[in-house]
Amino acid sequence: VRFEIRKPFLAAGYCHCLHCQRRSGSAWGAGGRLEPDGLVVTAGEELIRTWVPESGRPKHFCSNCGGHVFAGDREPGAVLGVRLGTLEGDPGIRPEYRQWVDSSPAWMPIPDDGLPRYPEGRP
Ligand SMILES: [Zn+2]
Repeated sequence: VRFEIRKPFLAAGYCHCLHCQRRSGSAWGAGGRLEPDGLVVTAGEELIRTWVPESGRPKHFCSNCGGHVFAGDREPGAVLGVRLGTLEGDPGIRPEYRQWVDSSPAWMPIPDDGLPRYPEGRP
C-alpha cells in the first residue's frame, strides 16, 4: 500500500492508549490528524484491511506487511489519524501533546519533554 498526504496535518501527538501499544508493540505511537481528503491511496487499495475495535476508531492496515495505513473513516467531516512513522520525509509538524498517559506502561517512563499531557484522549 502506498499513500500520499496532500494537506497539512491539523495536529500531531503521542498516544499512549492500549490500542496503540498493542498495534505497535511499543509504549506509544506518534500520529498526525488530517482531514479525510488529505490522504490519497495511490497503490494497493485492495490490500487494505480494517479492524474495528470495541472502542475507538477503525484501524486500516496493509494485509501484506501489517503496516498501519490510517485510522478513522474516510468521509467528510471526519478526522483521520496517520502514523508519522509511515511517512517518507518530514511530515511538516511535530508532536505537540501526549494523550492517554494514564494508560502508559510502567516499563517505559514518559520523557520530560514539556508537552502537555492528557490522562485520556486530548479534549
Ligand atoms: Zn492510541
